[in-house]
Amino acid sequence: MSEILLNQVCYRTLGVSEPWTLERYCNLGGYSTWKAILAGQWTPEKVVAEVQASGLRGRGGAGFPSGLKWSFLPQHDTGPKYLVCNADESEPGAFKDRDILRFNPHQIIEGIAIGAFAMHAQTAYIYLRGEFAEEEYVRIELALEEAYSNGWLGQKCGDIGLDLEIHAVLGAGAYICGEETALMESLEGKRGLPRFKPPFPANYGVFGRPTNINNVETYASVPVILEKGAKWFSELGTPKNGGTKIFSISGHVNRPGNYEVPLGTPFKTLLDLAGGVWKNRSLKAVIPGGSSTPVLPAQVALDLVMDYDHLSAVGSFLGSGSIIVLDETVDMPALLERISVFYMRESCGQCSPCREGTGWLWRLIRRVNAGQADLSDLKTIDRVAAQMMGKTICALADAAAMPVLAFLKHFRAEFEQKILKGGV
Ligand code: SF4
Repeated sequence: MSEILLNQVCYRTLGVSEPWTLERYCNLGGYSTWKAILAGQWTPEKVVAEVQASGLRGRGGAGFPSGLKWSFLPQHDTGPKYLVCNADESEPGAFKDRDILRFNPHQIIEGIAIGAFAMHAQTAYIYLRGEFAEEEYVRIELALEEAYSNGWLGQKCGDIGLDLEIHAVLGAGAYICGEETALMESLEGKRGLPRFKPPFPANYGVFGRPTNINNVETYASVPVILEKGAKWFSELGTPKNGGTKIFSISGHVNRPGNYEVPLGTPFKTLLDLAGGVWKNRSLKAVIPGGSSTPVLPAQVALDLVMDYDHLSAVGSFLGSGSIIVLDETVDMPALLERISVFYMRESCGQCSPCREGTGWLWRLIRRVNAGQADLSDLKTIDRVAAQMMGKTICALADAAAMPVLAFLKHFRAEFEQKILKGGV
């Protein structure tokens, strides 16, 4: 395996003891950009330009260019504006943000503070999934306390007299609250139901005011971009896919875990980092970006280059970078049933195609596994999934339908065999 740069950005504190403390973060150069901002050495426009030049794309799943998104907030609106950090990491297979929260909380806070300055926001929220109450939330709260007591957050900070409050908020454990507008509803104390868009959060976000929302990994990348320069960051990755990405590798590998590598790293290299397929078995398939992204068979996966554009060229997505490795023994209809029940349970129920469709899909797939289906049911499954796509308020219906369509596209013979053998 060729030499590969690991842990250059969000995981740069790994390997240091107690990396979550302010002292250790500052020893690594942390808060140098924020101190320079508070000393009046940066303008908001210069920050946005640098983030745009870096090629940073949203690390939560959509991959939208972050600097461009930051430029959407209305410049001449002098009323309140908000920043939100989405730390509601809940996609099955995803566990990268929790390690940034645990081992590098100050870098998230610095990234949010820089973003707030760039977008003229005076209040920011870090919304964490409810299950993060005992460790990640505690680390973030401690880090916020340290930043406040150092005078870097609060009222009239630094030479420029900046006002900035950052609050950590715990959700109640609903997957749908990772959807940006459901998160905002929840943040306002309401039930987490996705909103119709438009209007988009840049104009109508938290409390009806202009809001920028990004994922933990996105904000945590920003301090390093400004410290080391947009060019350094963009050259780590591939054209239009600048920087690094954390891949959470789980499933049938010898060393599951998080690996921060340059975007554009070959899948084979990541598989080697994770110790290869376990028990000397062969690779059957890979879910490349979290359970909602279309599965790819081994022959496609082994040639993959892991960046946004290559994944979409082969009919899947980089998503949150959560790679689920499946060995030759995996029962694909059984796995699809497990995935489908998750989305059925997490549907908020506002849209008929999602509320009814997720249940239909799960029941049809369960019928295949129970030996109660006939071959015509596969056509019904295809039809139900296809009719859910692009017809709902949020992307959960697509997230439920896409794995179904991909499993049937690549592993249809296995479903047919199971039906013909009565579910065995
Ligand atoms: Fe709710 Fe599903 Fe509609 Fe999203 S697509 S708003 S989860 S019913």
